[in-house]
Order: sequence, then structure tokens, then C-alpha cells
Amino acid sequence: MSKRDYYEVLGVEKTASFEEIKKAYRKIAFENHPDRNPDNKEAEARFKEAAEAYDVLRDEEKRAHYDRFGHTDMNGGFGGFTNEDIFSQFGDIFENFFGFGGGSRSANRPTVGDDLRYNLTITFRQAAKGDDVRLTIPRTANCPDCGGTGAAEGSKPETCTQCGGKGQVFVQQGPFRFASTCPKCQGKGTVISKPCPRCKGDGHIQEKRELTVHIPAGVYDGARLRLRGEGEAGRNGGPNGDLYVVIRIEADKVFDRDGQDLIYSTKIPFTKAALGAKIKVPTLDEDIEFEVPKGTQSGAVYRVKGKGLPYPGDKRVGDLLIEVIVETPTDLTAEQTELLQALDSLFEKHDSKLTSKLKKKLKDIIG
Ligand SMILES: [Zn+2]
Ligand SMILES: [Zn+2]
Repeated sequence: MSKRDYYEVLGVEKTASFEEIKKAYRKIAFENHPDRNPDNKEAEARFKEAAEAYDVLRDEEKRAHYDRFGHTDMNGGFGGFTNEDIFSQFGDIFENFFGFGGGSRSANRPTVGDDLRYNLTITFRQAAKGDDVRLTIPRTANCPDCGGTGAAEGSKPETCTQCGGKGQVFVQQGPFRFASTCPKCQGKGTVISKPCPRCKGDGHIQEKRELTVHIPAGVYDGARLRLRGEGEAGRNGGPNGDLYVVIRIEADKVFDRDGQDLIYSTKIPFTKAALGAKIKVPTLDEDIEFEVPKGTQSGAVYRVKGKGLPYPGDKRVGDLLIEVIVETPTDLTAEQTELLQALDSLFEKHDSKLTSKLKKKLKDIIG
């Protein structure tokens, strides 16, 4: 099934600013939110579609990628969107702007765990070729002894008698009624009389989770890889947050990079630039032979197709750009100086007498 254009989904121009996109998204999300449209499949579909579009267009990097390539695999293998994601990701917006959640629901409602961010520095070659990297992530997890309830074996959390499970109590002050956090349960809505010994009633423990993150070949510097459910544990049966691995790429000794193009810069003597020469050029795999054309000027750039970096989640490959810097010699011998002077005069006035003199000189040297 072909997907609708993200800009069309949100009803904004391709040139829309972030503020315009945010505004358009909020309006659609608000009108179609499942809480306001129970059992309305159409609204739900519209809501999801808008959330997906917003997830891409709000992110500068993803938006640029989308503008260039359209609906390709945006996340280099980490794509996909499920219902939970939408709520976990946009939960903040709903709570902050729409007043969903919060006091209107029970204090015991499941909440999504926090997202985690991990900065991972990789080498240029790892980025170019892709790699699987082992990470150790300190994070919270549900306590295995009590299953996250915080209550000791054989018991369970009981509804708070003071607030009736709401987590809030109301205080009358003159004509006003104020809501405040229940002092007995600290807003949790439940009380644990026999705390789990392992987590001391918290329901969460700290763990160091080992996991493998797959770096797609050709990954961009600054790319965020999302590992669903690898963030902090949720509360009250809520899903875990996500882990975002933010990629930083080290500079390379041999290559520079421009998008998916590799840049190799090399120096050649001015004689070879004038006459043309075969040079050896490294690529990500083996060395190749490249023919510098005669008459090459310093700073000239030559393109070798398909020898660059792969596009993540795509079959295309960038190019290798060879930048040629022409070197002028600085430590000439007396003989070289003499020859160049003769050559210089030859350039100034084409003199056959000089040419034969130069030829003789060359013969003397080369033999
Ligand atoms: Zn209470
Ligand atoms: Zn426990």
C-alpha cells in the first residue's frame, strides 16, 4: 500500500516551519485522539498516521532525509511504529498541552519508563562498513522477585485508604478547594504494607544490561538508533522506555566524508600534473589505480562512481572523490634549477636553439 505524503497528512506546505508542523500535528492528534474517539477506527488510523508524519518532520535530520528520498527505510533497520510508541513518544505533549492523563486517571495507571540516551563513538571504518557493538547500559528494571509491584511475596499493594486510590486529597481553604498529593501514599494511590526485600518496595532494581547494537553501514554522524524497550522500566505494568544510541564518528587518517561520498586528497609533483600520471588510490576495500589526466590543475577533483559509502537501508552507494593537489618543489638541486630555468626560457620564447641545448643537457644527465 502506498503511503500518503507526510506533508499532506499534516496539511502543511513542504516549506513549513517546525512551529507550523507542530501546530498542525497537535490539532490533528487532538481531534483524533483515541481517548476522545473510542472505537473509532478511522480516527485511530488518522491519529497514527499524523504521529508517524510528525515523528519524521519534527526531526531536522529525518525530515531532510525524507525530503530527499521519500518513504524509504528512515531508520536504517530500526523503523516501525506501534501504538505504544506513539503514546510513549507523544505522552509528554498530551499531558502538557491537552490535559490528558494526570488527575483524571487513577494514580496507579501504567506509565512508560523514561527513554535513555547513550553516546557511542565509533571509528570511521565502523561507520562505513557497519558493525555490531556490545554495550553495557545501566538502567532500571522491574524487580524479578516481586514483578515490579514492590510488595513482598504473597502480598500485594493495597489501595490507599486515605485517598481511595486517587493519589490526591482535596483541601478546602475558604471558598477554594485545592488538590494536593496524598500524604499517606505519596500520590501512588497504593500502600505496601510488606515491602519486597529485594527492591525495598520500589518495584525497580538497577541493572547493567548487555546488549548488541547494530550499526548500519554508512550511518551518519549524529544518527540516533532507537532500541525499543531498552530504556528504563515502566511503572504499574507500563512498557519500558526506549534507548537511543547517538552515533559519533571519529575522523579518519585517510578519508574525509561528504554525506555518502568519500574524499581522498593526494599530492602530486607539478611535472606529473603537467604530463599526466597513474597513481594508487585507496578505497574502503582495496587500492585502485587512477589516471590523473595531463594538464591537471591543483585542486582538481575527480569522481570515481560507487566507491563511497552505502546509504543506510538503501542499495545505493556514494562516490569516491579524488582531490589532486599539485606540489611545487622547494628544494631543487643546482642541476634541476638549471634545467627548469632552461625550460622556463623555452616557455617564454619558443626557441629551437634553446630546445636543442636543453635536449643535449637532458641527454648528459639521463645518459
Ligand atoms: Zn493515598
Ligand atoms: Zn521487588
